[in-house]
Amino acid sequence: MRVILKPGVSLRGLRPETAFLIERIKECYESVMRSSNSLEPSSSLRITSVTEGIHGPNSLHYVGFAVDSGLPRFYPRHNQGPVIAEGAIEQIIKLGREALGAEFDIVREATHIHWEYQPEGRA
Ligand SMILES: [Zn+2]
Repeated sequence: MRVILKPGVSLRGLRPETAFLIERIKECYESVMRSSNSLEPSSSLRITSVTEGIHGPNSLHYVGFAVDSGLPRFYPRHNQGPVIAEGAIEQIIKLGREALGAEFDIVREATHIHWEYQPEGRA
């Protein structure tokens, strides 16, 4: 699976922990996104935000400790796409929590999955 950055996404100030995180995100997507009889998974993981953009006032995006991934997309074989599979989102988050442990947080947002390195836990 390729990792692609949405146009405008900046890696400036990215922390090593976040580079590690992106590798784990890729593994989670690869593990969950398999072809089914009717759906073809997207061949890429789309990173939709790293350190650029507008986030909450204390967001870890501003300090390079957070990344957003696009929701997993699947393409119907004989139709128009894409479709978002809720089950795949839940599985990716579950796998991510198992793989990353307590130092990371994963949050399902409306348009993406938010991942962050937050070793002290949420304030
Ligand atoms: Zn985010």
